[in-house]
Amino acid sequence: MKIKYILIFIGVIVIFYLSTIHLDFILIGDNVDQISIGEQYIEKGADVCYRDIFNVCLFKSDIKIENNIDNTKIGNYEVKYTIDSTFFKKQIKRIIEVVDLECPVIEADKEIIKICPNEEVDINYSAYDNYDKDITSKVKKSIVENKLILEVFDSSNNYSSLEIPIEYVDNEKPTITLTDGAIYLLKGEKYKEPGYKAVDNCLGNITNKVKITNNIDINKSGTYTVTYTVSDDMGNVAKATRKVYVYENSPVVPSKDKVIYLTFDDGPSKYTFELLDILKKYDVKATFFVTSNGSDEAIKRIYEDGHSIGLHTYSHNYKEVYKSASAYFADLAKINNRVKKLTGLESKLIRFPGGSSNTVSNFNPGIMSYLSKQVLVKGYQYFDWNVSSGDTETSDTNKIVNNVIKSLKKGNNIVLQHDTNHASVKAVSKIIEYGKANGYTFKSLNINSPTAHHVISN
Ligand SMILES: [Zn+2]
Repeated sequence: MKIKYILIFIGVIVIFYLSTIHLDFILIGDNVDQISIGEQYIEKGADVCYRDIFNVCLFKSDIKIENNIDNTKIGNYEVKYTIDSTFFKKQIKRIIEVVDLECPVIEADKEIIKICPNEEVDINYSAYDNYDKDITSKVKKSIVENKLILEVFDSSNNYSSLEIPIEYVDNEKPTITLTDGAIYLLKGEKYKEPGYKAVDNCLGNITNKVKITNNIDINKSGTYTVTYTVSDDMGNVAKATRKVYVYENSPVVPSKDKVIYLTFDDGPSKYTFELLDILKKYDVKATFFVTSNGSDEAIKRIYEDGHSIGLHTYSHNYKEVYKSASAYFADLAKINNRVKKLTGLESKLIRFPGGSSNTVSNFNPGIMSYLSKQVLVKGYQYFDWNVSSGDTETSDTNKIVNNVIKSLKKGNNIVLQHDTNHASVKAVSKIIEYGKANGYTFKSLNINSPTAHHVISN
């Protein structure tokens, strides 16, 4: 009987003991863990134990571990730990946060920015993030105390900044460009500013800041200076000067070794009569290298007024005239006939279209070398020029006058003008007045005159 009770008692104890067996299932490590983008997840595992009332681990069982972690994408992922045995079923989870902790990188093409004081900062930069890739468009620019600051956040709020010092520099002087060079004024003639331009490397066009001073007394012959001064914001000063010559409007005794040969190409034209009147007024003889242009009356009057007539070309068509030697001479014969028919004169004076140094004839290599010798063989003389009026490039009379006057020198001056340009015709009185006031003699060309031959370049 006693035994029976003892057995019952033991039985109760055993049942009680068995009933205390419990599952101890815990994660090793934190329940929530972080890894960085790209970082490999390392499983720390879980611990499982069936424990009795005395907390003694009686046995373990298998744990199934699953996860869906994608370490290339920011997010929260679950790792599931599952026990699925006959008596116990349980699942626990661990959260793995895949995060971006890396800062973006800003790069710029300059370590220091050197710019004009008024200039906008111009710099190339880029921002790259390990996760967001190119985030250049998110960069914020600011300028604080001579520094350019570039800042950017990536989508995970990681911050980067880059500071680039700015140096405001301008050591360069502005430049002043004067229209025309020296100016020649008849005594009493008003000085008219031909124009100027000032440009600064930083400020651009600063023409309106130019200050002009001059000491010109138009009633007294002499040499004067016009001074142009301009300063940029950094105090760099530029200066330019123009000489102004005021000369007497009264001829002096001409000198034998200062000669001006006025020559006019491409005419006659509707302006030739006006030119002839001017020449007559000053009793100056000139030379006209004529073409098929203009009226017969003009050619007759050139001749009657005692000027020299030279042969320029009939067609003035370079392609035609310089096609061959025979084409040149055929053209020359045509203009020669025109002159001869109108004046009875057989001119031996030639001016090549474009001058003997022309390169417009390059399409026919060597033609100028050949023709320049050949015309001499045939008894002609050709004339180039050593003073260019530039009248094919401008219709500004004053400029033409100055182009001629500033090029005049002692000796022989063969001046190239075109009586087809009205501005050039209008320039003649002043050129003559200056010449006479400065001791020049005006002559027309003849076969023995100086030739001013150019260097042949074809
Ligand atoms: Zn010509």
